[in-house]
Amino acid sequence: MTSRARLVLNPRACDRCGRCLPACNQNAIRVGRAYIMVDWNRCDGCMECVRACDRGAIGSAATDAASRARTATRPVKPAPVKQPAATPRALSANPQRSCTVGGFTWTILEAAAMLSVTFAAFMLKEVFLASEVVRALPSEVMVGVRAVALAVFYAVQIVLLRYLVRRRGGVFSDALGLSRQNESVNEMAISFGLVLAGLAITRVTATVYSMITRSLDLMPQAGADTITHVFGTSVGGLVLASVMLVLVGPFVEECVFRGALLRGLEARIGAWPAIVIQALLFAAFHRSWWLFFPMTVLGVALGWLAHERRSLWPAIALHAAYNSLTVGAVIWFMRAGG
Ligand code: SF4
Ligand code: SF4
Repeated sequence: MTSRARLVLNPRACDRCGRCLPACNQNAIRVGRAYIMVDWNRCDGCMECVRACDRGAIGSAATDAASRARTATRPVKPAPVKQPAATPRALSANPQRSCTVGGFTWTILEAAAMLSVTFAAFMLKEVFLASEVVRALPSEVMVGVRAVALAVFYAVQIVLLRYLVRRRGGVFSDALGLSRQNESVNEMAISFGLVLAGLAITRVTATVYSMITRSLDLMPQAGADTITHVFGTSVGGLVLASVMLVLVGPFVEECVFRGALLRGLEARIGAWPAIVIQALLFAAFHRSWWLFFPMTVLGVALGWLAHERRSLWPAIALHAAYNSLTVGAVIWFMRAGG
């Protein structure tokens, strides 16, 4: 399992010549349209595939310098690959590598499948909760049913993400940028600072937007999807809201939107178009014309953070902090209102 960190897969450089397949004694590689799959449970780290691939579609972070020296001594087809292990900033300037996290590259088809299932599961949840049977339940039971439906909705997404990664021999945490990266204190301080800056920008934007739309009488009335309506006003309901909206929700949404979708789009259209498109889809996912603008701004901030830091944790932290301020404000207003 230690070998997985040393292979860097770049399906975009692969011409499917098949040379890596017989080179692998462990039969750990599969190559298909738009993907290279390595079964990490079989891979013993011999690096024969790296030596067999003269297009640089399979690279080794650990032996990259030596590999470059080797390939320089023999004729090779031109290929825009073989980048050295890079800092987050260098990666962001390099569109060939920017979509690969932990040796796993999401394809646009996988991202589209993930998003489709997310939207479909969301609609099913809404239809179920709006059904006569559920609406006829006592309000205390309704809160529990809503919480279970939300938990199932999140679980479906995690199961599908895990399936998509495992079917190509990937590792869930690596493929989603959740693995520990042994960052220096300096790098962690930069991530922390960017999360704080992102929180300030997105919250100030949301507050100013809220003030402007309220003064123009454009702010909609509270609907059936408010936190207190969904989770109730009891202490238990608010604790449940905090767990779901501050911990579980941000984690799952970041895995879907900034983990799979952003990486899949990046691989096809480049970083900034991918950041903007996933932010628009993220905003649309919240099903509110009024929320569309602040959610787009939040989506851009989260997308840029995930892209820039090459890890999902800063984006999860920003999303969780953003939601915690929203939940905190609801609780504060509720208590102030008696
Ligand atoms: S050797 Fe390289 S280019 Fe050929 S199929 Fe394998 S990964 Fe693709
Ligand atoms: S490092 Fe060796 S065992 Fe692992 S995929 Fe490459 S050739 Fe196969």
